[in-house]
Amino acid sequence: MKPTIVIVGRPNVGKSTLFNRLTKTRDALVADFPGLTRDRHYGHGKIGTKPYLVVDTGGFEPVAKEGIFHEMAKQTLQAVDEADVIVFLVDARDGLTAQDKLIADKLRKTGRPLFLAVNKSEGMQRAVITAEFFELGLGVPLAISSAHGEGVRELVELMLEDFPEEEDEEKEKHPKIALVGRPNAGKSTLVNRILGEDRVIAFDQPGTTRDSIYIDFERNDKRYTIIDTAGVRRRGKVFEAVEKFSVIKTLQAVEDANVVVLVLDAHEEISEQDAHIAGFIVESGRALVVAVNKWDGLDQYQRETIKSAIDRRLGFLDFAKFHYISALQGTGIAEIFKSIDTAYAAAMCKMPTPRLTRILIDATTQHQTPKVGAFRAKMRYAHQGGSNPPLIIVHGSAVDKVPASYKRYLERIFREAFELQGTPLRVQFKQGA
Ligand code: GDP
Ligand code: GDP
Repeated sequence: MKPTIVIVGRPNVGKSTLFNRLTKTRDALVADFPGLTRDRHYGHGKIGTKPYLVVDTGGFEPVAKEGIFHEMAKQTLQAVDEADVIVFLVDARDGLTAQDKLIADKLRKTGRPLFLAVNKSEGMQRAVITAEFFELGLGVPLAISSAHGEGVRELVELMLEDFPEEEDEEKEKHPKIALVGRPNAGKSTLVNRILGEDRVIAFDQPGTTRDSIYIDFERNDKRYTIIDTAGVRRRGKVFEAVEKFSVIKTLQAVEDANVVVLVLDAHEEISEQDAHIAGFIVESGRALVVAVNKWDGLDQYQRETIKSAIDRRLGFLDFAKFHYISALQGTGIAEIFKSIDTAYAAAMCKMPTPRLTRILIDATTQHQTPKVGAFRAKMRYAHQGGSNPPLIIVHGSAVDKVPASYKRYLERIFREAFELQGTPLRVQFKQGA
């Protein structure tokens, strides 16, 4: 699983600036998904060789006993508990403050790997600014500038030194499925329903509570792995949820899966949290199947209402197949597996260069690239740059002038040609031959 970096610090030290810098590379690729909902506190990134997840914990008032700051502190502490690495950010311009000391005390107690970064250090003398922060007893303070990007790469490389290189995704021969959704959507009911019908091969129960559980099983002679985020535990013949909802666990499971099943609760309104989880899935590029659960016991009016709310809030998931199911009654499960198989095949599809190039040339003949000023982009050839999500790299000249609408046109043509149901598709332009 990808390591999770959690950024902690008092307000205004530059946490969200650092967050933006750590997640920047990834954003460029998914910038123009229409209607995409983002949660700017959770993101993906890759600086250097190792990909990671980042959490910006927002304001941290360690002494607040109640109210909104208390809630935020609680959430921060949960994130800190689940972090693989913590960056404690302080401000070189303000110097060491009393609140920094309080936060440092809290963080030390968690026993998690901790890095102290002194932000806003551009144009200042390294030795001078870091000296006073030694007092925190958190090791060598690292001078960085989030706004200017100075020292950030070094910080990331140091933090991730002990984590392995990215694994080769190709070696997975069967779908890894993550079941995600907000608390009470019905995830553990669905897991039980699926596993009750199928043959469980291995149930791996890790020692630490932070980990999701991997369950291998066979269905119709095909093998699958479920990554369960509900924290189900085997209790006799059934599995039951024992843990509270964890955002980090959800995000890690999404990253680790090939296909995500997003479970929505039809008895509740589509919430901000649903939209954020959905946004994160799209950004991750994973294949997706949506299970609108608790479809039992609803009348026609209620069903229409929830369907239109889904269209409105989750319209950007239009590449995915939606199923209206009841985990409780066991309806719709077979159809979900059909869609999982289709989405997995699409996500892993092989796209040979000659065929891609032929489709590209046909598409540009049908619809000439629009002229921008004196320029008209010229597309030469296309090749596949990756899978899960499929990535198509189009080579040509003046391709930086291609408007988003034309890019979407190409995406649609490629998607139709390769019948890519259930997976996001990315098209990237590359200047030159
Ligand atoms: P947060 O409240 O900790 O998330 O802090 P922000 O990221 O919102 O930053 C607070 C202020 O500090 C903003 O005005 C930023 O532009 C500024 N800031 C952030 N990083 C740097 C930096 O590296 N150098 C300087 N000079 N200012 C920075
Ligand atoms: P989780 O937190 O996402 O794992 O949700 P659970 O599986 O624990 O389910 C939460 C509640 O919703 C439980 O009371 C379930 O019995 C109920 N539930 C789950 N699936 C369905 C369903 O398809 N229909 C109805 N009516 N209730 C369901």
